[in-house]
Amino acid sequence: MTHGDGGFDLLAGLVPPHAGGIYLDNNATTRVAPEVIEAMMPYLAEHYGNPSSMHQFGAAAGRGLGEAREQVAELLGARAASEIIFTAGGSESDNLGIVGTLRAYPEKKHVVTSAVEHPAVLGLCRDLQKRQGYEVDFVGVDGEGRLDLDELRAKVRPDTAIVSIMMANNETGVLFDSQAIGEIVKAQGSVFHVDAVQAVGKLPIDLTRLDTVDMLSLSGHKLHAPKGVGALYVRKGVRLRPLIVGGHQERGRRAGTENVASCVALGAACRLAAANREEENTRVRALRDRLEQRTLAAVSDSRRNGVADQRLPNTTNLSFDFIEGEGILLLLDRAGIAASSGSACTSGSLEPSHVLKAMGVPFIAAHGSIRFSLSRYNTEAEIDYVAQVVPRVVERLRQITPFNRSRATF
Ligand SMILES: *Cc1c(COP(=O)(O)O)cnc(C)c1O
Repeated sequence: MTHGDGGFDLLAGLVPPHAGGIYLDNNATTRVAPEVIEAMMPYLAEHYGNPSSMHQFGAAAGRGLGEAREQVAELLGARAASEIIFTAGGSESDNLGIVGTLRAYPEKKHVVTSAVEHPAVLGLCRDLQKRQGYEVDFVGVDGEGRLDLDELRAKVRPDTAIVSIMMANNETGVLFDSQAIGEIVKAQGSVFHVDAVQAVGKLPIDLTRLDTVDMLSLSGHKLHAPKGVGALYVRKGVRLRPLIVGGHQERGRRAGTENVASCVALGAACRLAAANREEENTRVRALRDRLEQRTLAAVSDSRRNGVADQRLPNTTNLSFDFIEGEGILLLLDRAGIAASSGSACTSGSLEPSHVLKAMGVPFIAAHGSIRFSLSRYNTEAEIDYVAQVVPRVVERLRQITPFNRSRATF
């Protein structure tokens, strides 16, 4: 490689661990596990019946669907499989839980959520506020991303229909104490919904003990099942109106013939997660810590966003002052490393992440933030390579892109 090509003399002397890419963007989506593909294939090829049909073809599909429902319920510690509604993903589960509750309690017009939710919840809540006549309160977080429980307590009231607060943040990995939050919610008689899309498969969840949680969302593609399938747990006795009305599938709570093969895949992914979670978490956490420590030690003006301990084992969100996350991503991608930046490059303007903004992370750091999210498929060799590449990328960007301090305000 020639000098001055923008480039990849940057990697001089480094040996990548293998020819394929290094995937560290597992909070965006995960690789479908080979065991999961194997489990779902017969439901595409052979057991193609409609699970509602009263013949052997329907029964075969119905058995797969029933078993999958049991596997999801089992991973969550739900009391009954009938508490699981299959959906088309995390966003639908969040919408069904929140809007389905509002329809069940039409006299209550107040909603509480947090300022750091995933867009699936935040976008819905903003729409409820702007266009549907609801009053919505957004509870803030502290500098390390922890929820302000006093603020929550002050905001939940008797006419609050639902409180929706995530279990684990997708950008920083910071965990919220769902049981403690639920106790505050229940004191006002409101419904408590938890977006646990990032937590399921990574954290032990036992809904028998987490008895203040009324509803919980999960998504297949965040735990090594395919995209486009998810589930909403609804505790027995909790009222919910459907969003999709029609046939009586999912006990009348979500009409439409189930995506049997994908539901089977989600069940298989849940079984896999339950079987291996603890040892995998220990290994993944060690890799994450190794990456985090080495990177922060090697790069000046860098920091971690979010509290150290109460955090998903696979996630690290790091800020590198004076450069932009997009630039880092671009160079990492050219080095075969996939990560994610904290700023949403949607409208062409580089808006810093709403999560880092809510945490009060300074502009200069929020702009240069990168999220690495690992999975069971990452290896030590990959992490060691990444930990060598990142400091070089940051140093190069700091040389070629002098930070424009006049823009350094929100
Ligand atoms: C990915 C994600 C969602 C959305 O799930 P989809 O299946 O992509 O619709 C919702 N909440 C959180 C926290 C997520 O990480």
